[in-house]
Amino acid sequence: MAENVLLEAEGISTHYGTSQALFGVSLKVPSRGGVAILGRNGAGKTTLLKTLAGDLRPSSGTVRFDGTDCTRMPTERRVRRGLGHVPQEQAIFGGLTVKENLLIGAMGDRTGKDRIDEMLELFPRLGQRLAQKAGTLSGGERKMLAISRALLSRPHLLMLDEPTEGVWHGVIEEIAQRLEQLTQDIAVVIVEQHVKLALRVSSYCYVMDRG
Ligand code: ATP
Repeated sequence: MAENVLLEAEGISTHYGTSQALFGVSLKVPSRGGVAILGRNGAGKTTLLKTLAGDLRPSSGTVRFDGTDCTRMPTERRVRRGLGHVPQEQAIFGGLTVKENLLIGAMGDRTGKDRIDEMLELFPRLGQRLAQKAGTLSGGERKMLAISRALLSRPHLLMLDEPTEGVWHGVIEEIAQRLEQLTQDIAVVIVEQHVKLALRVSSYCYVMDRG
């Protein structure tokens, strides 16, 4: 990998209780462009993203982000340093409107309003549904909202866990184009069942086999 490395994981092992899910995983993510993580069901892709995001603590190994060892850093501090994560389960508040979800995501940012406008340009569909409760959005619209919320914190690296899962095929293309666009400016790590889409968005690919 010739580019600058933004995130580097080395020898990551993660357990759920006594059950080991990751067995010394190492990977590098350059500061711009896409990296795909592929592998069959249960291979450990979600566990890896959660470990990199700080939701799970590895039992061994290190995670360096932007030159700093963040292996023991809490998730919120990683987010503040520019490490964004869109988990597989929806990272949105279903009982709040689309607008409220975006406002919460932009809280504490003086330029938050402009940033929300940028998100509505990225995903114009959301602009048409600002007053709608997020819980009643379609699968694709929810994914767009979850991605927008993560982007509001201005990540340098955005990790996406199955961004097209449960999304109607007509909308998948729209999401794919937006992700391709994002990789021009920031780093994107994508876990995705649609291998073609994952490889279209990515310049590098890791294949996981049983952690
Ligand atoms: P999929 O493609 O089906 O989403 P994955 O590659 O993302 O799978 P993980 O969800 O990371 O795989 O799961 C890796 C292993 O860890 C699996 O054997 C799974 O059963 C196990 N696992 C995941 N979450 C837990 C948990 N909360 N408690 C115990 N074991 C878990």
